[in-house]
Amino acid sequence: MSILVTGGAGYIGSHTVHALADRGDKVVVLDNLSTGQRSLVGDRADFVEGEVADQGLVGRVIGEHGVDSVIHFAGSIVVPESVTEPLRYYDNNVVASRALLAACVAAGVSRFIFSSTATVFAEDAPQPLAETSPKAPISPYARSKLMMEWMLEDVARAHPMRYAILRYFNVCGADPEGRAGQVSPIPTHLIKRAVLVALGRIPYLDIFGTDFPTPDGTGVRDYIHVADLANAHLLALDALRGGAESTSYNCGYGRGLSVREVVAAVERVIGRALPVREGPRRAGDPPTLIADPSRIKAELGWKPQHADIDAIVASALSWERRFNR
Ligand code: UDP
Repeated sequence: MSILVTGGAGYIGSHTVHALADRGDKVVVLDNLSTGQRSLVGDRADFVEGEVADQGLVGRVIGEHGVDSVIHFAGSIVVPESVTEPLRYYDNNVVASRALLAACVAAGVSRFIFSSTATVFAEDAPQPLAETSPKAPISPYARSKLMMEWMLEDVARAHPMRYAILRYFNVCGADPEGRAGQVSPIPTHLIKRAVLVALGRIPYLDIFGTDFPTPDGTGVRDYIHVADLANAHLLALDALRGGAESTSYNCGYGRGLSVREVVAAVERVIGRALPVREGPRRAGDPPTLIADPSRIKAELGWKPQHADIDAIVASALSWERRFNR
């Protein structure tokens, strides 16, 4: 039996493909290469270039590869872009995902793992966020993700399908073996940008807001290494294969780091000061986002291995040095 990984040429998808291949699982990747890179997949997984929305293609891939489980990463993920192009986000994240689900139901695929986001939760929900915390997504991106969560719940009630929804907090870092990393064409994330500053590719790092109600005034996030997140997908897959019920998991360490703490980590790793520029808050940024990872630890036995922030920064830095030299 093999696993269909949509978006397997993207950031989190490619790390998951490597983790699956490392333990000998058979994998077929479906990716349209709109933002992903073929080279990130490596040569241990089969690769099909195409659209998740192409139900006929997905049906053929499932049949030809003997797919019993799907891990669905493919989608659009840039929050500000979703505000200016909402219909594209609903197309890529909802309409296409609906077609993928239909192909799975038609082919009898009964295990589905879905990439969701911490931004589905209400901004005023108490921290840390549990799976049961109130949901109130604001951006079209976050709404499109919650719509797919609901669609999955409904499909699982009507058809023989079980799912795991993984809600990601701030994903960062790169494969410790250097096989994959972040290749985002629009680098907006803090650690990626800080590393680009460290390499001199951006002149300084903007600190967006120093007046948040946090210990040092800057935004606090739960940064999770992509290798630990990839492993969470493997554990969720194993649980579903073992008969586990459908559920959702918040994926973070339960540790909040401020922007200044991340800057300090980068400075420790590079051994010098990082040029920063303090400025106003970025529109829509909440002060604090921290996961309560109790459920994923208790139910899946998830044990983070890469939580050290200096090691996260070092892995991101070495990937960036290798990529786009
Ligand atoms: N941030 C920052 N400068 C940057 C990018 C991000 O100060 O160049 C801050 C941002 O305001 C937030 C945190 O870093 O408090 C994480 O932002 P990121 O874009 O990495 O992820 P988000 O939490 O927005 O998904």
